[in-house]
Amino acid sequence: MPVRPELLAMAAEMQLWRRHLHARPEIAYEEHETADFVARLLADWGIEVHRGLAVTGVVGTLKAGTGKRAIGLRADMDALKIEERNDFEHRSRVPGKMHACGHDGHTTMLLGAARHLARTRQFDGTIHFIFQPAEENEAGARRMVQEGLFERFPVDAVYGMHNMPFLPEGQIAVRPGPVMASSDFFEITVNGKGAHGAWPHTGIDAIGIASELVLAFNHITARTVNPLDSAVISVTQFHAGHANNVIPESAKLSGTTRAFSTALQDHIESSMRRVCEGLGAAYRAKIDFNYQRRYPPTINHPEQTEFAAQVATGVVGPSNVLRDEPPVMGAEDFAWMLLEKPGSYVWIGNGPQHQGGSMLHNPTYDFNDRILPIGASYWVELAERWLSPHATHR
Ligand SMILES: [Zn+2]
Ligand SMILES: [Zn+2]
Repeated sequence: MPVRPELLAMAAEMQLWRRHLHARPEIAYEEHETADFVARLLADWGIEVHRGLAVTGVVGTLKAGTGKRAIGLRADMDALKIEERNDFEHRSRVPGKMHACGHDGHTTMLLGAARHLARTRQFDGTIHFIFQPAEENEAGARRMVQEGLFERFPVDAVYGMHNMPFLPEGQIAVRPGPVMASSDFFEITVNGKGAHGAWPHTGIDAIGIASELVLAFNHITARTVNPLDSAVISVTQFHAGHANNVIPESAKLSGTTRAFSTALQDHIESSMRRVCEGLGAAYRAKIDFNYQRRYPPTINHPEQTEFAAQVATGVVGPSNVLRDEPPVMGAEDFAWMLLEKPGSYVWIGNGPQHQGGSMLHNPTYDFNDRILPIGASYWVELAERWLSPHATHR
Protein backbone atom coordinates (compact mmCIF):
# COMPACT_ATOMS: atom_id res chain seq x y z
CA MET A 1 0.00 0.00 0.00
CA PRO A 2 1.44 3.44 -0.89
CA VAL A 3 1.62 6.44 1.44
CA ARG A 4 -1.48 6.15 3.61
CA PRO A 5 -4.26 8.68 2.92
CA GLU A 6 -4.96 8.83 6.67
CA LEU A 7 -1.37 9.87 7.27
CA LEU A 8 -1.46 12.40 4.45
CA ALA A 9 -4.54 13.78 6.17
CA MET A 10 -2.48 14.03 9.37
CA ALA A 11 0.37 15.91 7.63
CA ALA A 12 -0.53 19.37 8.92
CA GLU A 13 -0.86 18.12 12.47
CA MET A 14 2.42 16.23 12.29
CA GLN A 15 4.07 19.39 10.98
CA LEU A 16 2.82 21.24 14.08
CA TRP A 17 4.30 18.59 16.39
CA ARG A 18 7.58 18.60 14.48
CA ARG A 19 7.92 22.36 14.58
CA HIS A 20 6.92 22.44 18.24
CA LEU A 21 9.77 20.02 18.97
CA HIS A 22 12.18 21.85 16.68
CA ALA A 23 11.69 25.10 18.58
CA ARG A 24 12.39 23.37 21.92
CA PRO A 25 15.54 21.28 21.46
CA GLU A 26 16.90 19.33 24.43
CA ILE A 27 20.24 17.54 24.51
CA ALA A 28 21.26 14.10 25.85
CA TYR A 29 19.37 12.93 28.94
CA GLU A 30 17.72 16.34 29.29
CA GLU A 31 14.80 15.53 26.98
CA HIS A 32 12.26 16.09 29.78
CA GLU A 33 9.80 18.31 27.93
CA THR A 34 10.16 16.25 24.77
CA ALA A 35 9.45 13.07 26.73
CA ASP A 36 6.45 14.75 28.41
CA PHE A 37 5.13 15.74 24.98
CA VAL A 38 5.56 12.23 23.57
CA ALA A 39 4.12 10.51 26.65
CA ARG A 40 1.07 12.79 26.79
CA LEU A 41 0.16 12.16 23.15
CA LEU A 42 0.65 8.40 23.43
CA ALA A 43 -1.53 8.29 26.55
CA ASP A 44 -4.21 10.43 24.85
CA TRP A 45 -4.42 7.80 22.13
CA GLY A 46 -4.86 4.95 24.60
CA ILE A 47 -1.30 3.62 24.31
CA GLU A 48 0.30 2.21 27.48
CA VAL A 49 3.19 4.51 28.45
CA HIS A 50 6.37 3.50 30.29
CA ARG A 51 8.85 6.18 31.33
CA GLY A 52 12.24 6.52 32.95
CA LEU A 53 14.30 3.97 31.04
CA ALA A 54 17.66 5.71 30.41
CA VAL A 55 16.41 8.75 32.36
CA THR A 56 14.18 10.32 29.72
CA GLY A 57 13.30 7.34 27.50
CA VAL A 58 9.66 6.64 26.69
CA VAL A 59 8.23 3.32 25.53
CA GLY A 60 4.64 3.12 24.27
CA THR A 61 3.07 -0.35 24.10
CA LEU A 62 0.11 -1.13 21.85
CA LYS A 63 -1.52 -4.56 21.64
CA ALA A 64 -4.16 -5.97 19.35
CA GLY A 65 -5.50 -9.47 18.93
CA THR A 66 -3.97 -12.48 20.64
CA GLY A 67 -0.78 -12.86 18.62
CA LYS A 68 2.48 -13.48 20.47
CA ARG A 69 4.72 -11.68 18.00
CA ALA A 70 6.16 -8.27 18.88
CA ILE A 71 8.05 -5.57 17.06
CA GLY A 72 10.07 -2.56 18.28
CA LEU A 73 10.06 0.70 16.33
CA ARG A 74 12.64 3.21 17.48
CA ALA A 75 13.00 6.98 17.16
CA ASP A 76 15.57 9.27 18.79
CA MET A 77 14.58 12.49 20.59
CA ASP A 78 17.76 14.45 21.37
CA ALA A 79 19.18 17.64 19.87
CA LEU A 80 22.74 18.96 19.49
CA LYS A 81 24.85 21.72 20.99
CA ILE A 82 24.73 23.88 17.88
CA GLU A 83 23.60 27.50 17.52
CA GLU A 84 20.86 27.50 14.87
CA ARG A 85 21.37 29.93 11.99
CA ASN A 86 17.89 29.60 10.46
CA ASP A 87 15.44 32.45 10.85
CA PHE A 88 12.13 30.74 10.12
CA GLU A 89 9.32 30.88 12.65
CA HIS A 90 10.01 27.48 14.24
CA ARG A 91 13.76 28.02 14.77
CA SER A 92 15.29 26.99 18.08
CA ARG A 93 14.34 29.15 21.02
CA VAL A 94 17.14 27.73 23.13
CA PRO A 95 20.53 29.42 22.67
CA GLY A 96 23.27 26.99 21.67
CA LYS A 97 20.95 24.02 21.11
CA MET A 98 19.36 22.83 17.91
CA HIS A 99 17.62 19.88 16.26
CA ALA A 100 20.30 19.68 13.58
CA CYS A 101 20.04 15.93 13.00
CA GLY A 102 16.30 15.72 12.42
CA HIS A 103 15.43 13.78 15.56
CA ASP A 104 12.43 16.12 15.88
CA GLY A 105 11.23 14.62 12.59
CA HIS A 106 12.04 11.05 13.63
CA THR A 107 10.04 11.46 16.86
CA THR A 108 7.14 12.97 14.89
CA MET A 109 7.03 10.20 12.24
CA LEU A 110 6.83 7.56 14.95
CA LEU A 111 4.14 9.55 16.79
CA GLY A 112 2.12 9.79 13.57
CA ALA A 113 2.37 6.04 13.09
CA ALA A 114 1.46 5.38 16.73
CA ARG A 115 -1.65 7.49 16.45
CA HIS A 116 -2.81 5.76 13.28
CA LEU A 117 -2.11 2.27 14.62
CA ALA A 118 -3.89 3.07 17.89
CA ARG A 119 -6.96 4.13 15.92
CA THR A 120 -7.07 1.26 13.46
CA ARG A 121 -5.41 -1.69 15.27
CA GLN A 122 -5.18 -3.77 12.10
CA PHE A 123 -2.52 -6.11 13.45
CA ASP A 124 -2.18 -9.15 15.68
CA GLY A 125 0.45 -8.82 18.41
CA THR A 126 2.40 -6.12 20.22
CA ILE A 127 4.10 -2.94 19.03
CA HIS A 128 6.62 -1.19 21.26
CA PHE A 129 7.23 2.43 20.20
CA ILE A 130 10.71 3.20 21.55
CA PHE A 131 11.57 6.88 21.98
CA GLN A 132 15.19 6.96 23.05
CA PRO A 133 17.26 9.78 24.49
CA ALA A 134 20.87 10.71 23.85
CA GLU A 135 21.64 9.24 20.44
CA GLU A 136 24.31 11.91 19.90
CA ASN A 137 27.58 10.87 21.62
CA GLU A 138 25.98 9.57 24.82
CA ALA A 139 24.75 6.14 23.71
CA GLY A 140 21.18 6.38 24.96
CA ALA A 141 20.34 3.17 23.09
CA ARG A 142 23.02 1.25 24.97
CA ARG A 143 21.73 2.62 28.25
CA MET A 144 18.15 1.59 27.45
CA VAL A 145 19.39 -1.90 26.57
CA GLN A 146 21.49 -2.09 29.77
CA GLU A 147 18.52 -0.96 31.85
CA GLY A 148 16.43 -3.83 30.51
CA LEU A 149 14.67 -2.52 27.40
CA PHE A 150 14.29 -5.90 25.74
CA GLU A 151 13.63 -7.83 28.97
CA ARG A 152 10.75 -5.52 29.83
CA PHE A 153 9.60 -5.08 26.23
CA PRO A 154 10.57 -8.25 24.35
CA VAL A 155 10.50 -8.00 20.56
CA ASP A 156 11.18 -10.38 17.67
CA ALA A 157 12.76 -7.56 15.68
CA VAL A 158 13.67 -3.91 16.07
CA TYR A 159 13.72 -1.24 13.37
CA GLY A 160 15.20 2.25 13.08
CA MET A 161 15.04 5.08 10.55
CA HIS A 162 17.11 8.23 9.97
CA ASN A 163 16.73 11.04 7.46
CA MET A 164 19.52 11.75 4.97
CA PRO A 165 19.81 15.15 3.24
CA PHE A 166 21.75 13.95 0.20
CA LEU A 167 19.11 11.36 -0.73
CA PRO A 168 16.11 12.43 -2.83
CA GLU A 169 13.03 13.50 -0.88
CA GLY A 170 11.05 10.51 0.37
CA GLN A 171 13.24 7.81 -1.15
CA ILE A 172 14.20 5.02 1.23
CA ALA A 173 17.67 3.44 1.30
CA VAL A 174 17.87 -0.12 2.61
CA ARG A 175 20.82 -2.48 2.63
CA PRO A 176 21.86 -5.58 4.55
CA GLY A 177 25.14 -5.80 6.44
CA PRO A 178 27.15 -2.84 7.72
CA VAL A 179 25.51 0.54 7.11
CA MET A 180 27.33 2.71 9.60
CA ALA A 181 30.77 2.42 11.13
CA SER A 182 32.06 1.88 14.63
CA SER A 183 33.29 4.98 16.43
CA ASP A 184 36.04 4.69 19.03
CA PHE A 185 38.13 7.41 20.68
CA PHE A 186 41.81 7.36 21.66
CA GLU A 187 44.02 9.54 23.83
CA ILE A 188 47.78 9.20 23.88
CA THR A 189 50.40 10.90 26.04
CA VAL A 190 54.02 10.66 25.00
CA ASN A 191 56.16 11.21 28.09
CA GLY A 192 59.68 12.15 26.98
CA LYS A 193 62.21 14.34 28.70
CA GLY A 194 62.27 18.12 28.44
CA ALA A 195 65.40 19.86 27.23
CA HIS A 196 66.80 23.12 25.93
CA GLY A 197 66.00 23.49 22.22
CA ALA A 198 69.72 23.84 21.50
CA TRP A 199 70.65 20.60 23.34
CA PRO A 200 68.18 18.03 21.96
CA HIS A 201 70.51 15.14 22.84
CA THR A 202 70.00 15.79 26.56
CA GLY A 203 66.23 15.18 26.30
CA ILE A 204 63.74 12.73 24.79
CA ASP A 205 61.76 14.59 22.14
CA ALA A 206 58.05 13.98 22.76
CA ILE A 207 57.01 16.01 19.68
CA GLY A 208 59.23 13.99 17.36
CA ILE A 209 57.99 10.71 18.76
CA ALA A 210 54.33 11.78 18.62
CA SER A 211 54.83 12.83 14.99
CA GLU A 212 56.13 9.35 14.18
CA LEU A 213 53.04 7.90 15.84
CA VAL A 214 50.77 9.89 13.50
CA LEU A 215 52.61 8.49 10.47
CA ALA A 216 52.62 4.97 11.91
CA PHE A 217 48.83 5.12 12.35
CA ASN A 218 48.46 5.94 8.66
CA HIS A 219 50.65 2.94 7.98
CA ILE A 220 48.24 0.73 9.95
CA THR A 221 45.24 1.68 7.79
CA ALA A 222 47.14 1.84 4.50
CA ARG A 223 49.37 -1.24 4.87
CA THR A 224 47.88 -3.67 7.39
CA VAL A 225 44.17 -3.54 6.49
CA ASN A 226 42.84 -5.36 3.44
CA PRO A 227 42.30 -2.61 0.83
CA LEU A 228 38.80 -3.99 0.23
CA ASP A 229 37.91 -3.21 3.86
CA SER A 230 37.43 0.31 5.15
CA ALA A 231 39.18 1.73 8.17
CA VAL A 232 39.94 5.22 9.43
CA ILE A 233 42.35 6.43 12.09
CA SER A 234 42.12 10.21 12.40
CA VAL A 235 44.38 12.12 14.76
CA THR A 236 42.32 15.22 15.40
CA GLN A 237 44.24 16.83 18.28
CA PHE A 238 47.99 17.28 18.79
CA HIS A 239 49.06 19.38 21.77
CA ALA A 240 52.60 20.03 22.92
CA GLY A 241 55.03 22.75 23.85
CA HIS A 242 54.92 26.29 25.20
CA ALA A 243 58.13 28.03 24.10
CA ASN A 244 60.31 28.35 20.99
CA ASN A 245 63.47 27.18 22.67
CA VAL A 246 62.18 24.41 24.91
CA ILE A 247 61.66 20.79 23.90
CA PRO A 248 58.56 19.89 25.94
CA GLU A 249 58.58 16.82 28.10
CA SER A 250 55.25 15.53 26.84
CA ALA A 251 52.90 15.58 23.85
CA LYS A 252 49.23 14.59 23.69
CA LEU A 253 47.42 13.10 20.72
CA SER A 254 43.77 12.23 20.43
CA GLY A 255 41.31 11.26 17.74
CA THR A 256 38.83 8.72 16.47
CA THR A 257 38.80 5.43 14.58
CA ARG A 258 36.14 3.93 12.32
CA ALA A 259 35.53 0.42 10.97
CA PHE A 260 32.73 -1.84 9.77
CA SER A 261 33.45 -4.91 11.88
CA THR A 262 34.40 -5.76 15.44
CA ALA A 263 37.35 -7.77 14.11
CA LEU A 264 38.72 -4.65 12.42
CA GLN A 265 38.09 -2.60 15.57
CA ASP A 266 40.18 -5.20 17.44
CA HIS A 267 42.90 -5.02 14.80
CA ILE A 268 43.06 -1.22 14.92
CA GLU A 269 43.20 -1.08 18.71
CA SER A 270 45.86 -3.78 19.08
CA SER A 271 47.97 -2.35 16.24
CA MET A 272 47.90 1.15 17.70
CA ARG A 273 48.84 -0.22 21.11
CA ARG A 274 51.73 -2.21 19.64
CA VAL A 275 53.04 0.83 17.75
CA CYS A 276 52.92 2.91 20.94
CA GLU A 277 54.78 0.25 22.92
CA GLY A 278 57.32 -0.30 20.16
CA LEU A 279 58.09 3.36 19.49
CA GLY A 280 58.17 4.06 23.22
CA ALA A 281 60.75 1.32 23.71
CA ALA A 282 62.77 2.40 20.67
CA TYR A 283 63.03 6.00 21.84
CA ARG A 284 63.01 5.47 25.62
CA ALA A 285 59.73 7.33 26.09
CA LYS A 286 56.82 6.21 28.21
CA ILE A 287 53.71 6.27 26.05
CA ASP A 288 50.30 6.08 27.72
CA PHE A 289 47.70 4.67 25.34
CA ASN A 290 44.04 4.98 26.20
CA TYR A 291 41.52 3.50 23.76
CA GLN A 292 37.77 3.77 24.42
CA ARG A 293 35.31 1.51 22.64
CA ARG A 294 32.28 3.70 22.03
CA TYR A 295 29.83 2.75 19.26
CA PRO A 296 29.97 -0.62 17.47
CA PRO A 297 29.27 -0.75 13.72
CA THR A 298 25.58 -0.71 12.76
CA ILE A 299 24.99 -4.02 11.01
CA ASN A 300 21.62 -4.78 9.43
CA HIS A 301 20.36 -8.35 9.62
CA PRO A 302 19.69 -9.77 6.12
CA GLU A 303 16.25 -11.30 6.59
CA GLN A 304 14.77 -8.34 8.49
CA THR A 305 16.36 -5.97 5.97
CA GLU A 306 14.76 -7.74 3.02
CA PHE A 307 11.47 -7.44 4.86
CA ALA A 308 12.09 -3.67 5.34
CA ALA A 309 12.94 -3.33 1.64
CA GLN A 310 9.68 -5.00 0.62
CA VAL A 311 7.70 -2.80 2.99
CA ALA A 312 9.46 0.33 1.66
CA THR A 313 8.72 -0.81 -1.90
CA GLY A 314 5.06 -1.09 -1.00
CA VAL A 315 5.02 2.45 0.39
CA VAL A 316 7.14 4.48 -2.06
CA GLY A 317 7.33 2.15 -5.08
CA PRO A 318 10.31 0.15 -6.40
CA SER A 319 11.99 3.09 -8.14
CA ASN A 320 12.15 5.00 -4.84
CA VAL A 321 13.82 2.24 -2.87
CA LEU A 322 17.61 2.52 -2.98
CA ARG A 323 19.23 -0.85 -2.37
CA ASP A 324 22.75 0.13 -3.36
CA GLU A 325 23.56 3.17 -1.25
CA PRO A 326 27.06 2.74 0.14
CA PRO A 327 27.51 2.61 3.93
CA VAL A 328 28.83 5.74 5.65
CA MET A 329 31.68 6.13 8.14
CA GLY A 330 29.52 7.99 10.67
CA ALA A 331 28.24 6.06 13.69
CA GLU A 332 24.78 5.42 15.10
CA ASP A 333 23.85 4.11 18.51
CA PHE A 334 20.98 2.01 17.12
CA ALA A 335 23.91 -0.40 16.62
CA TRP A 336 23.46 -1.42 20.27
CA MET A 337 19.89 -2.52 19.65
CA LEU A 338 20.93 -4.52 16.57
CA LEU A 339 23.46 -6.38 18.73
CA GLU A 340 20.56 -7.57 20.90
CA LYS A 341 17.79 -8.16 18.38
CA PRO A 342 17.57 -8.76 14.64
CA GLY A 343 16.41 -5.77 12.67
CA SER A 344 17.28 -3.09 10.21
CA TYR A 345 18.09 0.61 10.01
CA VAL A 346 17.02 2.55 6.94
CA TRP A 347 17.57 6.06 5.62
CA ILE A 348 14.80 8.25 4.29
CA GLY A 349 15.75 11.04 1.88
CA ASN A 350 15.35 14.55 3.30
CA GLY A 351 15.88 15.96 -0.21
CA PRO A 352 18.97 17.81 -1.49
CA GLN A 353 16.74 20.73 -2.49
CA HIS A 354 15.47 21.21 1.05
CA GLN A 355 17.36 23.95 2.94
CA GLY A 356 19.89 23.97 0.11
CA GLY A 357 20.80 20.37 0.95
CA SER A 358 22.18 21.49 4.30
CA MET A 359 23.82 18.43 5.86
CA LEU A 360 23.10 16.86 9.24
CA HIS A 361 24.76 18.71 12.15
CA ASN A 362 24.86 21.93 10.12
CA PRO A 363 23.47 25.16 11.66
CA THR A 364 21.19 25.70 8.64
CA TYR A 365 19.80 22.16 8.54
CA ASP A 366 16.05 21.52 8.95
CA PHE A 367 14.00 18.32 8.75
CA ASN A 368 11.76 18.23 5.68
CA ASP A 369 8.12 18.15 6.81
CA ARG A 370 6.98 16.78 3.44
CA ILE A 371 8.45 13.39 4.28
CA LEU A 372 6.55 13.03 7.58
CA PRO A 373 3.59 11.09 6.07
CA ILE A 374 5.99 8.91 4.05
CA GLY A 375 8.08 7.91 7.06
CA ALA A 376 4.97 7.41 9.19
CA SER A 377 3.43 5.20 6.46
CA TYR A 378 6.60 3.10 6.39
CA TRP A 379 6.28 2.50 10.16
CA VAL A 380 2.59 1.64 9.90
CA GLU A 381 3.12 -0.75 7.01
CA LEU A 382 6.11 -2.35 8.71
CA ALA A 383 4.20 -2.99 11.94
CA GLU A 384 1.04 -4.23 10.21
CA ARG A 385 2.93 -6.60 7.93
CA TRP A 386 5.22 -7.89 10.67
CA LEU A 387 2.21 -8.53 12.86
CA SER A 388 -0.12 -9.70 10.12
CA PRO A 389 -2.23 -12.68 11.22
CA HIS A 390 -1.23 -14.28 7.91
CA ALA A 391 2.49 -13.63 8.23
CA THR A 392 4.72 -16.45 7.08
CA HIS A 393 7.90 -15.13 8.69
CA ARG A 394 8.34 -15.51 12.39
ZN1 LIG B 1 23.42 13.29 14.50
ZN1 LIG C 1 20.83 11.65 14.05
